[in-house]
Amino acid sequence: MMVLEKTNISETEHTFLLTLKPKMRSRFASGDLLAINPADDYRERLYSIGKKDGNIQLKVKLHQNGLGSEYLNDLKAGSMIKARIVENNSFHFPRKSKKVVMIANGTGIAPFLGMIHENKRKTECHLYCGFRNETEMIRTHQIFAQDQMSKGKLKSSHIAFSREQNRCYVMDLIKRDADFFTELLQSNGTIMICGSLVMQQDVEKILDRILLMNTNYNLEYFKLKGQILTDCY
Ligand SMILES: Cc1cc2nc3c(=O)[nH]c(=O)nc-3n(C[C@H](O)[C@H](O)[C@H](O)COP(=O)(O)OP(=O)(O)OC[C@H]3O[C@@H](n4cnc5c(N)ncnc54)[C@H](O)[C@@H]3O)c2cc1C
Repeated sequence: MMVLEKTNISETEHTFLLTLKPKMRSRFASGDLLAINPADDYRERLYSIGKKDGNIQLKVKLHQNGLGSEYLNDLKAGSMIKARIVENNSFHFPRKSKKVVMIANGTGIAPFLGMIHENKRKTECHLYCGFRNETEMIRTHQIFAQDQMSKGKLKSSHIAFSREQNRCYVMDLIKRDADFFTELLQSNGTIMICGSLVMQQDVEKILDRILLMNTNYNLEYFKLKGQILTDCY
């Protein structure tokens, strides 16, 4: 695959966006995974894909001495890399849902950027994200969200900043909007969660508590009905 674009990291920004041009006729969707093998050995690394204008967009956090993230961070526009797409059917945009809530923290926003961009049917989508600070990259995500809202592809966007501004976590936003989440699940809506495993566990705990308070069901019931989709790592 050819590298089309890569943003730079800085003292305050430890994540970067990488855009790759896949081979002609590659079939993939936002939510699939990109597998790379930087040292050409057994150490494979996976990254969540957002599909944008037919290209692959990744959001990667640079880890010091990290084999995969340093390899990707060293890439320059025009270079070629060997990578394969891993189909991840359980995390594709739910076409039959009338309402979708996307919950992310950190790099977990990547597949959602693609899904919102591709939401041509204008399914009602709501984005809940958690970050530490408002970096330049986060501002570009906010501008993207505003633009998609004006196009009707995104209904609402909520950000929790853990270290500034509203000083809260995405779980606090869910607690604040408890009635909305209850109604969403009861009316067959879907919740998608992408990002850290710790965030997933905390979000699930809160949702379970909200459901037990407001309904006769727990989160497991909606999980078994396929209304909770996760891609966490
Ligand atoms: C399904 C799936 C999807 C993923 N999607 C993404 C994605 O979209 N974006 C993304 O950035 N990553 C994603 N990851 C994580 C990614 O696969 C790598 O694990 C990550 O980039 C670190 O790999 P590395 O080779 O750079 O670091 P390694 O060589 O594995 O580790 C180097 C050093 O960094 C430390 N380190 C590694 N990971 C962490 C961590 N999470 N927290 C603290 N220290 C750490 C290690 O302890 C070690 O000291 C995903 C993982 C999975 C399983």
